[in-house]
Amino acid sequence: MIERKSGMEVGWNLDNSYTHLPQLFFTNTNPTPVPSPKSIVLNCPLAKSLGLNTEALENNGASIFAGNEIPKGASPLAQAYAGHQFGHFTMLGDGRAILLGEQITPDGKRFDIQLKGSGRTPYSRRGDGRAALGPMLREYIISEAMYGLGIPTTRSLAVVTTGDTIIRETELPGAILTRVASSHIRVGTFEYISQWGSIDELKALADYTIKRHFSDIDTDGNPYISLLKEVIKRQAILIAKWQLVGFVHGVMNTDNIAISGETIDYGPCAFMDTYDPKTVFSSIDRQGRYAYGNQPSIAAWNLARFAETLLPLLHDDEKKAIKLAQDTILEFHDIYHCNWINGMRRKLGLFNEEPEDEKFIKELLSMMDKYKVDYTNTFRALTFDNTKDTPLHDKEEFSKWYKQWKSRLEKQKETKDSSHELMRNSNPSIIPRNHRVEEALESAGKGDYSVMNKFVKVLLRPYAHSSKQNEYTKLPPPSDIPYRTFCGT
Ligand code: AMP
Ligand code: MG
Repeated sequence: MIERKSGMEVGWNLDNSYTHLPQLFFTNTNPTPVPSPKSIVLNCPLAKSLGLNTEALENNGASIFAGNEIPKGASPLAQAYAGHQFGHFTMLGDGRAILLGEQITPDGKRFDIQLKGSGRTPYSRRGDGRAALGPMLREYIISEAMYGLGIPTTRSLAVVTTGDTIIRETELPGAILTRVASSHIRVGTFEYISQWGSIDELKALADYTIKRHFSDIDTDGNPYISLLKEVIKRQAILIAKWQLVGFVHGVMNTDNIAISGETIDYGPCAFMDTYDPKTVFSSIDRQGRYAYGNQPSIAAWNLARFAETLLPLLHDDEKKAIKLAQDTILEFHDIYHCNWINGMRRKLGLFNEEPEDEKFIKELLSMMDKYKVDYTNTFRALTFDNTKDTPLHDKEEFSKWYKQWKSRLEKQKETKDSSHELMRNSNPSIIPRNHRVEEALESAGKGDYSVMNKFVKVLLRPYAHSSKQNEYTKLPPPSDIPYRTFCGT
């Protein structure tokens, strides 16, 4: 492994603040070199925003993103964390990911640069530390789509193939994804320190998190209550955004919940076509714990696990600490609900609030559920007043609802144009529909990346409503077999 010192500068400006935390938090580990790295995708706009030189990365990125060349200033490590997986507490940690360092951007922001699929670490358990090309490209496509939709998310800087074959059910090409995140501190990081660390170590983590993510926090009272409140607020905002676009994360274990409020860990996630709160895609989620309709209550459950870890910092008296934590957690549902209902109002072009709004919105959703119609396309049809295109058109209950909606819009003081504008900006024309994601991955598997590149380009502008998007709004051919996703490990 070489440290690059000469040639065109890539523009790394890495800091390693995580290494200043106590040793319990991580293990210094280098990526395992791979035989023949090949660049598959490079996210040039993201690279530029990080202050990286895209020309240098185009020439030499493959060996960096494969972990064969350690960037100047990097201090590679694997992070320790635990987590509740499907409700059960487990010790985890980066089993196939390595944090190279934190890139400080030209505008002073700090982002983790992490390689995923870069070899074994002390936390690998029985895993091989590797990742397959398909799931890494899937993360690339969906995380970029989330970014395009305006939803807080980790992003994907690059995907490289390693030249190695990895063994899953079949032999697959090995790949590494470079993930960019505000940080990789998870609820599971707090659970790990709370379980195996001292109070001082817990305090060090909480203080580090506040400094890194919540520097403008209210410190008049107890800063750790403010931390809890902020984390709850960001999760509530995030989950409302997921619900509004029909995103199903699929594996909301506490180790996959980022404290920053970004969507993280794109394993078995997928977008819902037909509206159905029971939608589950993940093959391992047999009980439907992480179904679309359960996401808000699961988020609250995960936040309760987070609050538990903070108890020793909330109050010296355990009973009082528990009471404080419980009262704070209760705020989740109100913040979530407020964000969700306001988002729904925007989706319907409504500027003002009325007491009957929730009932009115739920009537529409239950018609979608009853008649098994497409979630995204229904809102799109309403936006462009093309309801003839929806299967709801000839339903009497829908006509009644539609008339009520139109009269609400008429009564508003805002113009029709501004309400149309509001709907255009709140209802994406396109989402990464499963059949399209599969199509892009299938072509990529045959060495043709053009389908994926074209797809990602449109996904980045879901509110453009251009004719280029039309082909992506089409539904998959009807099938009796439900769409299934796999963890991609
Ligand atoms: P995930 O379900 O992707 O959130 O992963 C759960 C845990 O399993 C994390 O600690 C991962 O680092 C670890 N893991 C997943 N795949 C592998 C692998 N192929 N080798 C080693 N560890 C893995
Ligand atoms: Mg994970």
